[in-house]
Amino acid sequence: MSIFEKTYELKLKTPYQEKVVRVLGIESTSHTFGAGIVELRDNKVYFLANASSQYKPARGGIHPRESFTHHVNNAPKIISKALRDSGLEIKDIDVIAVAVGPGLGPCLRVGASVARFLASYYGKPVAPVNHAVAHVEIGKLVSGLQDPVIIYVSGGNTMILVQKNNRYRVMGETLDIPLGNLLDTFAREIGIAPPYVVDGNHAVDVCAEWSNEFISLPYTIKGCDLSFSGLLTAALKTAKEHLHDKKHIGRVCRSLREVAFNMLIEVAERTLMLTDKNSILLVGGVAANKVLREKMETVAKQYGVEYYGTPPEVAGDNGLMIAYTGLLHYLFGKITKPDSVLVRQRYRLDEENYPWLP
Ligand code: AMP
Ligand code: MG
Repeated sequence: MSIFEKTYELKLKTPYQEKVVRVLGIESTSHTFGAGIVELRDNKVYFLANASSQYKPARGGIHPRESFTHHVNNAPKIISKALRDSGLEIKDIDVIAVAVGPGLGPCLRVGASVARFLASYYGKPVAPVNHAVAHVEIGKLVSGLQDPVIIYVSGGNTMILVQKNNRYRVMGETLDIPLGNLLDTFAREIGIAPPYVVDGNHAVDVCAEWSNEFISLPYTIKGCDLSFSGLLTAALKTAKEHLHDKKHIGRVCRSLREVAFNMLIEVAERTLMLTDKNSILLVGGVAANKVLREKMETVAKQYGVEYYGTPPEVAGDNGLMIAYTGLLHYLFGKITKPDSVLVRQRYRLDEENYPWLP
């Protein structure tokens, strides 16, 4: 059964909501403009819509101005599609949620402007959502896991998290580039991308199939923090020695992936041991990776803990996760007036309390 056909019991210490609550969530932090709609009815969450459009650079990485233009051009279409898919009109929506950071300044401002306009014109409150928190919350909802060790891996973030005293605590994070960025930059620099992901497989995974060999590359962990930049430099240098040798590129791709994922596994294991949690949750765009999912599952089995990998539909950036987190904001009174909505490019998820957390 698809995640859209299921309903999700809200396991929170909130007063029971008699009234039906519907939230429109807007995502625009980076490459995706997304609009999702959730409904809370009888303490159950229903996914009503999840529309999106991705900016895909023809060459190079994400150019913030180009992504901004993509978002401006697609925002009306995507919001109308989400409303149409849900069978609702804007007047039926109770709260407008928007991802206010972290992200790219020009991109963030598109979502915030749209949210401010809709909320002030139609007289709705706004839920200003942290994008990273939203990745985690949708994973927790879909998995049913309430207090896991969280591995958050995406294009712009790499963090190992736990929850304590109403806060997300960062047990470890990247000291330089994020995991998704490592894979994307490597693939781009050796000419195998863009596109970075085709049919759910990253370009690095596709080329890794060309060889079974492993070569040694820098493996850098400091405490529970990770560093990927030395690995990137070494992998690029090695790959460029025989750029047109398929076997050689296959060997480097396989080794790069192995080293990067194993570093993450080590920190996940250490966090599991330190915190005594009994489950692992994988979230963020890179959570769609089949090899990483298998590795995490193996670790979870070894330690006898539960494991859940967020499904690709809601692992990457999407409006639905913003809508659901907006619902949590609304239920716990973390909402604001449209003119107080400000974007924050470096908005960390461990800066403030979230009253719904354990
Ligand atoms: P997000 O920013 O959360 O949307 O995640 C985007 C990142 O996820 C980009 O770096 C993508 O290359 C990466 N990504 C998406 N699908 C996969 C996959 N199957 N394997 C590895 N990375 C992926
Ligand atoms: Mg993201």
